[in-house]
Amino acid sequence: MSRFTPCLSCRQEYDSPEDRRFHAQPNACYDCGPSVWLETAAGERLPNGDPLQQAVDCIGRGEILALKGIGGFHLVCDARNPMALARLRERKQRPHKPFAVMAANRASLAPLVQLDDGAEHWLAHPGAPVVILPKTRQALLPEAIAPGLDGLGVMLPQNPVHWLLFHQAAREPWRLVLALLWQLGREDLIEQRVGQHNGWSSVLQMLHHGFNCPLSSSLGRVFDAVAALLGVCDLQTYEAQAAMLLEARVRQLPSATSGLWHITPDNQLDLSPLLEHLLQADNAQAGAECFHANLSAALADWVIRAAREHSIENIVLSGGCLLNRWLRAGLVADLKGHGVRVFLPQALPPGDGALALGQVWVAIMRANIKPEEDSTDVSGSTG
Ligand SMILES: [Zn+2]
Repeated sequence: MSRFTPCLSCRQEYDSPEDRRFHAQPNACYDCGPSVWLETAAGERLPNGDPLQQAVDCIGRGEILALKGIGGFHLVCDARNPMALARLRERKQRPHKPFAVMAANRASLAPLVQLDDGAEHWLAHPGAPVVILPKTRQALLPEAIAPGLDGLGVMLPQNPVHWLLFHQAAREPWRLVLALLWQLGREDLIEQRVGQHNGWSSVLQMLHHGFNCPLSSSLGRVFDAVAALLGVCDLQTYEAQAAMLLEARVRQLPSATSGLWHITPDNQLDLSPLLEHLLQADNAQAGAECFHANLSAALADWVIRAAREHSIENIVLSGGCLLNRWLRAGLVADLKGHGVRVFLPQALPPGDGALALGQVWVAIMRANIKPEEDSTDVSGSTG
């Protein structure tokens, strides 16, 4: 800390006993804190745009990125791209020595290598070591990564820049559109809808291989996908941007259309008919209105069935998606119309903060219950 010179306002926060950042060593801001930049091989700093997005684009184009970390440079390229691997081998003059593969999480590694408890332990280790594991039988990655070997060195992200280079994908709802079209069996529309984005064909190949594309059950991701599908938001620069832009397109809610959702025998809500219907939306406003009306009707239908089955009269609604006023209004009206009482968060916002508070409350209640009485299992989900 002594060698770091903060800006004046950070200094004041650090020095003031009444400030909540008093002697907080990681205190820094956009002016004086760490920064990220990208340089060409000739050492010229790229002036415009988000350097992380530019780095992701470089990798997507098959280029090689030198990533400066705590222990030196990491050379990074797209492990699915044989041309990029060949170039990296040539530049490093490393014709055969195996390369390690980094993936965003264990779910992404599962199709590549055989994971067991020992592997999971080392992958989760704070030192983030390269863990050598037997390859799975599916040949999902080019042989050039570890030629002739039956093991593969894998690792998870080690530092914040690695994380930023991943989770970047979550900020690109067009990827969800691609996955959605593929799931709906409309591969014919993919190039027309997302062909302008770097890396779309590799994402499609990944889908064909069932690789690195965990299907999300989060309602937030459905909003992201629909926003991109309707052309409202292809790239997000802040959390929930796509959902908020989609909400802003709505002027009034039309009536819901029956048949645009169904509930499976194992009680899953299937929105695929609605999503397919939205492919024919006349414009973003009509699409956004149709989506909100039918989503709230579908959720209400799902809740009402469960309430009837379990004789429940009181329903508590929470989750960040309830910040969406159209969803909230539609859902509350439908539920009340079916005679149940609806409770919404009053003193706290409906997102993750209140969820955490609820979990603390449950923990306190459980701590007060004697172990032999404690037979309930409590878990939380952000949905
Ligand atoms: Zn500062």
